[in-house]
Amino acid sequence: MIIARTLAELNSAREALGPVGFVPTMGALHAGHLSLLTAALADGLPAAASIFVNPAQFGPKEDFGQYPRDEAGDLAKLEAGGCSLVWLPSVDIMYPPQGATSVHVNGPALHWEGAARPGHFTGVATVVAKLFGQIRPAAAYFGEKDWQQVQVVTRMVEDLYLPVRIVPVPTVRETDGLALSSRNAYLTTADRKAAPALQAALQKAAREMLAGKEVAATLHNARHDAALAGLVPDYIALVHAETLEPIAALVAPARLIAAAKLGHVRLLDNIPVQ
Ligand code: AMP
Repeated sequence: MIIARTLAELNSAREALGPVGFVPTMGALHAGHLSLLTAALADGLPAAASIFVNPAQFGPKEDFGQYPRDEAGDLAKLEAGGCSLVWLPSVDIMYPPQGATSVHVNGPALHWEGAARPGHFTGVATVVAKLFGQIRPAAAYFGEKDWQQVQVVTRMVEDLYLPVRIVPVPTVRETDGLALSSRNAYLTTADRKAAPALQAALQKAAREMLAGKEVAATLHNARHDAALAGLVPDYIALVHAETLEPIAALVAPARLIAAAKLGHVRLLDNIPVQ
């Protein structure tokens, strides 16, 4: 596995590899990240991963400074998972002082995480566009865990005619249903026990909607269920799966999306309704 820390090291590694499947991450890797690597390898492509905690996608009051970092552990996991190249850029490489360009996505970036975290998706789209320019991947793998992010990146790639195929990969969960997340490490023992309630509320809502129950009443109950378990729901919504616009009736393609606070930790989850 080649470890590149400078653009010169990255460029020589890229020339040697040919087309690659790319897995962008912020590190603190878990089985969810590794499933993206597995998906790239299953497509018959050598895998390139990046580890970069992107300051531009954190708000001023968010956890950039405290975000978990474990470079040695991450490199061992990537190597064991069959990764060919790891790109570890510095903040100065990604955001040189003369840099003057960012990527602003409207449409699927406007609501939900976009509203809760102003500037977040501009930070995501900008860093992903830069990483695509550096790595020039044939395909890039993103977790459905961050459903809105996948739609934002897909929209950007179509709008800018970027020559990369975006591949969504299903969410990897704990046995009790909690979606794996690097931030789950911050949950207290009691909050960790309560956390699967978000997924359970979504599953129940999906069952009820599919049985014909009215959407608004179902969503109201889902928020109530999550609150009873001790979560503070930010949103639980039924949306068009690609535009992320809220929808008032169950029409395909639909997705149930949710964010809720548990202590200081913000949990995200989503499931299909079909
Ligand atoms: P992050 O390091 O949190 O920026 O995540 C890097 C990539 O891993 C993103 O595409 C995430 O959606 C994906 N990812 C994170 N958690 C999971 C999970 N539980 N299952 C599948 N993919 C995930």
